[in-house]
Amino acid sequence: MARSGSKKADGSSLRALLRVAPGSKVDLRSFDCGATFGREKAKAVDEIAAGQTRLADLHDRLWAEAKHAVLVIVQGIDAAGKDGTIHSIMGAFNPQGTPVTSFKVPSSLELAHDYLWRVHARLPAKGEIGIFNRSHYEDVLVVRVHGLVPSERWKLRYRQINDWERMLTEEGLTIVKFFLAIDRDEQCARFQERVDDPKKRWKFSLADLEERKRWDEYRVAFEDCLAKTSTGWAPWHLIPANRNWFRNLAVSEILADALEDLDPQYPPAAEGVEGTIVE
Ligand code: AMP
Ligand code: MG
Repeated sequence: MARSGSKKADGSSLRALLRVAPGSKVDLRSFDCGATFGREKAKAVDEIAAGQTRLADLHDRLWAEAKHAVLVIVQGIDAAGKDGTIHSIMGAFNPQGTPVTSFKVPSSLELAHDYLWRVHARLPAKGEIGIFNRSHYEDVLVVRVHGLVPSERWKLRYRQINDWERMLTEEGLTIVKFFLAIDRDEQCARFQERVDDPKKRWKFSLADLEERKRWDEYRVAFEDCLAKTSTGWAPWHLIPANRNWFRNLAVSEILADALEDLDPQYPPAAEGVEGTIVE
């Protein structure tokens, strides 16, 4: 069935262009975080609105059908735009079917379990589009950069995560992963804005500056993570995120394309319902 949308089968879709090929090497130093792939800001407002319409329609069907569960993972360094991205796509969804989880520093209870325990508990049910703001990927990112567990342990996690995500997809979960890439200057500008704007200051802490000093350690951890955990069953999409409009456009289009693959359908009427006259 033809639906409005921008899905292109010829490999020129943002989904195809921004997907990290499984097994490829990722070099974030040469990645252009301001890239727009020929898209224009002036047209983006309408294109994002069209993306939202597609997402709303697709989630309505997905929710009604209650057959597929979808997990959206959003990762990125501090100030990469994780919150803004989630805010943008959320507008399209039925809030009852869209649980959002923000993963923070693990509690003592969480730390008393394996690192996937808290994540597994928050996976979406059928019909839901679950959104993770940070995720189990922190367990090979911040955990690696800060040496929170010995390297022998976090090094095993790439394989463990791939195996776990594979099991989940075999059980019917669709996983769509976004890594938002901003560059160092952009993070500087965003932090400064957080400091200067009283409405954004609550988002900033001096600890963010300590993390910023580890930019290159994070970069290497991101590169390894993207290269080792982009799989055929759960690929990463590397989103140039210096420009919010492009980031929102890319995420909404890629997600809509992924949902379209599921081709969710409204369930057929129950026996005897069709043609019933309500008096
Ligand atoms: P925010 O996203 O700004 O609310 O911050 C959440 C904080 O929790 C970030 O500093 C993350 O690095 C931290 N965090 C999330 N998951 C983990 C984890 N598994 N281990 C350690 N820190 C984590
Ligand atoms: Mg923060």
